[in-house]
Amino acid sequence: MNKENNQESNAENPEEFTGLKIGKPKEVAAGIPAVISSAEHILSEMNLGRGLKALSKLNQNDGYDCPGCAWPDPDDERSRIAEYCENGVKAIAEEATTKKLTADFFAANSVKDLSLLDDYHIGKKGRVAQPMYLPKGATHYQPITWDDAFKKIAEQLNNLTSPDEAVFYTSGRTSNEAAFLYQLFVREFGTNNLPDCSNMCHESSGVALTESLGIGKVSVKLEDFYQAEVIIILGQNPGTNHPRMLTALQKAKENGCIIISVNPLAETGLIGFSNPQTIKGALGIKAKLADMFLQVKINGDMALLKAIELLLWEEEEKNPGTVFDHQFINEHTADFDLFINHIKQFNLQYLLDACGVSIELIKKAATIIAQKKKIIACWAMGLTQHKNAVDTIKEIVNLLLLKGSIGKPGAGTCPVRGHSNVQGDRTMGIYEKPSHAFLDSIKNVFGFEPPRKNGYDTVEAIHAMHQEKAKVFFAMGGNFLSATPDTTYTAEALRKCKLTVHVSTKLNRSHLVHGEEALILPCLARSDKDEMNGIDQFVTTENSMGVIQSSKGNLKSVSDNLLSEPVIVCRLAQATFGEKSNVNWALYQSNYDHIRNDIGKVIPGFENYNERVRKPGGFYLPNSNREKNFNTITGKANFNIADITITTLTNDEYMMMTIRSHDQFNTTIYGLNDRYRGVYNERRIIFMNAKDIAHEKLKAGDVVDLFNYFEGVERVARKFIVVEFNIPEKCTATYFPETNVLVPINSVAEKSNTPTSKNVVIKIRIH
Ligand code: SF4
Repeated sequence: MNKENNQESNAENPEEFTGLKIGKPKEVAAGIPAVISSAEHILSEMNLGRGLKALSKLNQNDGYDCPGCAWPDPDDERSRIAEYCENGVKAIAEEATTKKLTADFFAANSVKDLSLLDDYHIGKKGRVAQPMYLPKGATHYQPITWDDAFKKIAEQLNNLTSPDEAVFYTSGRTSNEAAFLYQLFVREFGTNNLPDCSNMCHESSGVALTESLGIGKVSVKLEDFYQAEVIIILGQNPGTNHPRMLTALQKAKENGCIIISVNPLAETGLIGFSNPQTIKGALGIKAKLADMFLQVKINGDMALLKAIELLLWEEEEKNPGTVFDHQFINEHTADFDLFINHIKQFNLQYLLDACGVSIELIKKAATIIAQKKKIIACWAMGLTQHKNAVDTIKEIVNLLLLKGSIGKPGAGTCPVRGHSNVQGDRTMGIYEKPSHAFLDSIKNVFGFEPPRKNGYDTVEAIHAMHQEKAKVFFAMGGNFLSATPDTTYTAEALRKCKLTVHVSTKLNRSHLVHGEEALILPCLARSDKDEMNGIDQFVTTENSMGVIQSSKGNLKSVSDNLLSEPVIVCRLAQATFGEKSNVNWALYQSNYDHIRNDIGKVIPGFENYNERVRKPGGFYLPNSNREKNFNTITGKANFNIADITITTLTNDEYMMMTIRSHDQFNTTIYGLNDRYRGVYNERRIIFMNAKDIAHEKLKAGDVVDLFNYFEGVERVARKFIVVEFNIPEKCTATYFPETNVLVPINSVAEKSNTPTSKNVVIKIRIH
């Protein structure tokens, strides 16, 4: 069996490269180049007036939440000049664009022709301006009324043999209100098939933290960054993926914090930062951020953490009571003795070889950590998308527990979420494995019996569609095909569906690789005004640190034929259930306050929701870890005992991780440059170590094909240009989603079932 990348994954046959230029990686992030880049992106999509209007309310208390990442806004004063970053501006340029796609566009462009474009050029087409329908066997999307669109979906859903034959996916931009209604509709319909993008990113964090600490979320607040003595950043590239985090790190550093970066790549954002909102930054004066860079091999994090823990234990043995926080350990943790017995059996050299970092650097890091008491650990997908991701994250917790660094100011866990409301969607019940308490609450408030059987997560949903057990695929936002692994297999799965439906703002590849019939339901974006019965509506979101805040757009939408996501769900439910529903869907559409009132009845922490969320800055959800309460099976914070995993590579095998460029947010490609890494005008590249290039008898600039062999299947991604880069030997990096075709659907993290997109064994051959 052979799987190649083709129009399902990206440019069908990239005969022509777009003119790769390689420069020196940048030593400083943001600064004036970020301001220039922001302006260019805005002006390429709209006029200056609309752009300024949009940006004036971005991340403001009376404005709307950035649709980019989930980094929190300051609790106190917000900058009236610009409470956003370059990538926030790019996100707004994309969604507030005045380019729009009407029926004429779809009549002039066949689905096949559009599918031959790469993701960047598809995304640049513009906003979908009216509902569109692709009948069975048709070559072009056709206009359809909203009523007819809902009728078609309802007919398909009601004709299924079982509700479990439908899959309802959610992307992390969906507001709390839309997410709550969506899961309510899905559960009243009779299934828990609610996969989401979290299944592919921080699921491993949620599983690990829940088992170790009793809650699957961050334990710190933003203000903790300003009190921390040490911040360790693992498998994360904040300069590109959470840029305003650099401002928090700069402030931490000014307060004396030591920052340690752990990553296979030296990412520019952590080397230096020039804050364009300060006079120094505007003059191009950079602040150094990371004090130490520990360049681990791909997936060397667990071995590195264990090496540090071993050195800490040795120091504690020499000077008892000076390194570990015994009072915290005795009062709040379980299995400390077991953990110590486990850690002291490791050979330090074995751990050093496994992580690839020198003894000098590790000793230096261990000495710093030994002397400090307030430590924050941050991480992202560099850790979560490995087979052993859950155990690696638990190892971070082990380190923090030794230091008593959870539940006190300036210390704790910080998994940094990638999409602006991915955490809120989970809180609202977008979860394929809902707790009994949550389902009981739904039953008590709405009077119907929700399904109790677990639904499909993302990987399981793809398999179910491929096996034709699931026949209707409905996506609330996102670009499912480009976000998911094993692109060819996933495309086959979508094509086997009877109906695929996407609630979207812009055209994307998932509209072009479709089921027998397909629908695009165009919705309002975050920045769009949303008025109902003459009253401006707002929605709410939850950021990475558990703050719930309001979001109200201020732009006239690009078309009058768009609906908001909450209204789409209500009208879908009305079409599907008719009079047979326990839920008052009409009431919710009249004013979103009614939705929030019912969220307050179902979900703990949302009492008086409407009142509290109207206060500037919103409110924090309860977080037991902050009070040193650990709702685990043992009632304590659990040390975890796990061995390290070493993947043995043959002479011609390499480990590949997928990464994002600086001109990209998840599947949205803003441009073809990766300024910080010095790559311009091309995305089909592979970053390689100079020694590996020589070993393969290649040279920089050569064009190669990439192969993965997993469970007897050959996966191929053709035509990638070799770029020499500072990356550990035997490690390579390529951009997501171009190489998702190489990520095997069955290669997943233990316990979390997250695809191992940072851990793909490849072979490289000249094209
Ligand atoms: S840091 Fe994230 S949330 Fe903030 S403006 Fe940038 S992309 Fe948006």
